[in-house]
Amino acid sequence: MRCPDSDRRMRAFQRRLLAWYRANGRRLPWRRTRDPYRILVSEIMLQQTQVERVKAFYRRFVRRYPTFEQLAAADEPAVRESWDGLGYYARARNLHRTAQLVVQEHGGALPDDADAIRRLPGIGRYTAGAVLSIAFGKDEPILDTNAARVLARFFGVPTNGGKTRVQKRLWALAARVTPAGHAADFNQAIMDLGATICRAHVAACAECPLRRQCRSAPGTGRTARRKASRRRPRRSAPARA
Ligand code: SF4
Repeated sequence: MRCPDSDRRMRAFQRRLLAWYRANGRRLPWRRTRDPYRILVSEIMLQQTQVERVKAFYRRFVRRYPTFEQLAAADEPAVRESWDGLGYYARARNLHRTAQLVVQEHGGALPDDADAIRRLPGIGRYTAGAVLSIAFGKDEPILDTNAARVLARFFGVPTNGGKTRVQKRLWALAARVTPAGHAADFNQAIMDLGATICRAHVAACAECPLRRQCRSAPGTGRTARRKASRRRPRRSAPARA
């Protein structure tokens, strides 16, 4: 897909987002490690649960099952008990089954290949991208609801026209904008910005590091052009006496 935005806008997006993340990124327990197992556990827990709620569950779970081997050897009722309170138990079942497959088929090491990792239960395109970029340093993009919102607003991507089409457009944009060699920080940065500043209902544009180039920020880009085009007819109307 050809992106209508210039390379300059793209580079500004990458540079400002990464600089903001270095100073303001959230300090989360799973960000102290690059261990693929721990990154995977956090990503599975975060699939349907808020960050703040996941923290305590994550700590408890990796204390009880610190490796794929230990999780694979546990029986299902024990895993279920460790997941109690987090909800969506299918995630725990998938994670448990994944641990068993990693041990049986991959010698206890999570594969670092997109096709292989996506064949494991409960791992979709987003989770694969997150694990591959954060744990293995691969140049893989991600697209969750936070990242999708930031990309759509910043680049002025139309979000009408069918969910599948919009998702396809945003995935292509995410792939294009993810900077080579910095995908881990960049992916975490875009999710953090979407969670803390470019929020769904209230975008704190005044605090946003991207506001100068953003097509949706008040007074710039699309918003400004929309206002200007609304004003134009009045300016050209004959002045009243
Ligand atoms: S300037 Fe506003 S709309 Fe644009 S990315 Fe930042 S918070 Fe979101």
